[in-house]
Amino acid sequence: MVKLEMNKQLQGAVRRAAQIHNTVKLAGQNAYTVISGHSREAYRGTLRKGVDGFAWAWCNCPAGQKSMVCHHIISAGWVHTAICKMRKS
Ligand SMILES: [Zn+2]
Repeated sequence: MVKLEMNKQLQGAVRRAAQIHNTVKLAGQNAYTVISGHSREAYRGTLRKGVDGFAWAWCNCPAGQKSMVCHHIISAGWVHTAICKMRKS
């Protein structure tokens, strides 16, 4: 799992996610299937809030396996945030 905190790597991932237009599908509780708009590969990403209050994420793409924040996580995060807002309202 990688901690989501605002840094250069996360900003780069946000930029890529905005350009690439990944397709995100709900795959379970806090789990998402992200189909890359770039390579059309499907990856599995998970997001959860840790006891430390930070958001933690994991993705099974090559970058995610090296504990890097990838654009799949960002795309899933956007959908995750939207779903959490819907659940609250
Ligand atoms: Zn990824």
